[in-house]
Amino acid sequence: MREYVKKIASFATSGLVVACIAGWVPATVLAAEKEKIEERPILIQGPMPIEAEKFAKKLTDVKIEKSGSFVFYIGTLDNYPVIVSKTGKGMENTAANTAIAIEKYHPIAIINQGTSGGHDPDLNVGDIVLGKRTVNTGSLKSGDLGKNQGSNPMIWGPMDLMASEGSGSDPNAKKIRYYEGDKDLLASAIAVKNTYTKGKVVEGTIASSDFWNDEIDRINWFHVNYGSSVEEMEGAAGAQIASAYGVKFLGIRVLSNNKSNGGKYNPATAEGNQDYVYEVVKHYISTLKSK
Ligand code: SAH
Repeated sequence: MREYVKKIASFATSGLVVACIAGWVPATVLAAEKEKIEERPILIQGPMPIEAEKFAKKLTDVKIEKSGSFVFYIGTLDNYPVIVSKTGKGMENTAANTAIAIEKYHPIAIINQGTSGGHDPDLNVGDIVLGKRTVNTGSLKSGDLGKNQGSNPMIWGPMDLMASEGSGSDPNAKKIRYYEGDKDLLASAIAVKNTYTKGKVVEGTIASSDFWNDEIDRINWFHVNYGSSVEEMEGAAGAQIASAYGVKFLGIRVLSNNKSNGGKYNPATAEGNQDYVYEVVKHYISTLKSK
C-alpha cells in the first residue's frame, strides 16, 4: 500500500515538475499538490457507539460513509484529515474494518481505542493502558487428552497462526506473537499523559480475543504467561492487519472493569478515553506538520 501511495506521489510530482519546467504550473501549486498527496488520514477505531461517537463529534466538516456494517466519520482535526470508524465489537469486525479502511483511505496511522477489563490488580477502573504490545489470546492449542479426560484450559498453550503458511507442526507456532505499538504514536501518547486526570496512564500489554474472561485464575494465567495488563476484543486483530500492510498502529484502552481487584464495570470511562485519545491525535498531527 505504501508503494502504491509513493507511486502516485512520485507520478503526480514528476508530472507536475515537467509541467513546472515547461512553465505551465506555478511552484506554489506544485507544493500544495505535494502536501495534499502526503496528507494521509489518521484512523481512529472504536467498537461500540459509546467508544466512537464522542470522538466523531469532535471532528470538523464530517462526511459519513458506510461500508457493510461499518460507519466511517470522515472529517478534519486541526486541518488534518482524521477518520473515526465505528467498527462493531470483536476480532472479525475489527480485522475487516482495518483492511477496508486501509484499502479505501490509505491511513498513515491507526489508533484502536475503547474499554477493557483489567488483568493487572495494580490498575484501577479509569486507568489507561497504552499498548506497547498487543497479543491475540484467543489463538490457542489445547492439551492432548482422550475420551473422558475432560478439558483443561489451564494447560492450553499459545498458537501462532502467522508462524508459517503450513500446519501447526512448526515449532515456532507455539510462540506468543506480540505486535509492537508504533513508537511515534506511543511518544505522542506519552507526551500528553498529563492531560488525563481520571486515572493513571501506563504502558502495557493489551490482550484480545472474542472472549470475556471472568475467572480470576484464568485472568491470572494470561497475566503471568502473556504479561497482559488488560483484555478486550479488538486490538490484536487491528494490529495484525495493520502490520500486514505496514501501517503504524497503537492500541489505547481504558479500564472499564477489573475483575482482578473487584473494579466494577463503568461504561462512562469510554468518554474519558476518547478525550485523551483526542489529545494524542492532536499531538501526533503537530509532529507530522513539523516534519
Ligand atoms: N457489558 C457490555 C460489554 C460488551 S462486549 C455488554 O454486555 O454489552 C465487550 C466490549 O467491551 C468489547 O468491545 C471489548 O473490547 C470491551 N471490553 C471491556 N471490558 C472487557 C472485558 N473484561 N473482557 C473483554 N472485553 C471487554
